[in-house]
Amino acid sequence: MVRCPYCNFEGNFKELRNPWKFRFYTVKRLECPRCNGIFNHYYGVSSRGKNSEFVIRVKVPIKK
Ligand SMILES: [Zn+2]
Repeated sequence: MVRCPYCNFEGNFKELRNPWKFRFYTVKRLECPRCNGIFNHYYGVSSRGKNSEFVIRVKVPIKK
């Protein structure tokens, strides 16, 4: 389950572009519908067969 790294929202995120590959990861750029923060979601299986998933912050939401 993907979780927003800014506000912990869980649910449906908006995909800002088509997913791409980074090493064994599939990367999605997602926008949080609640706080408008943007982050990259990495998901893949390593060469040792281990599931790996994490997010990297891209753009901190601007508070209105
Ligand atoms: Zn959020």
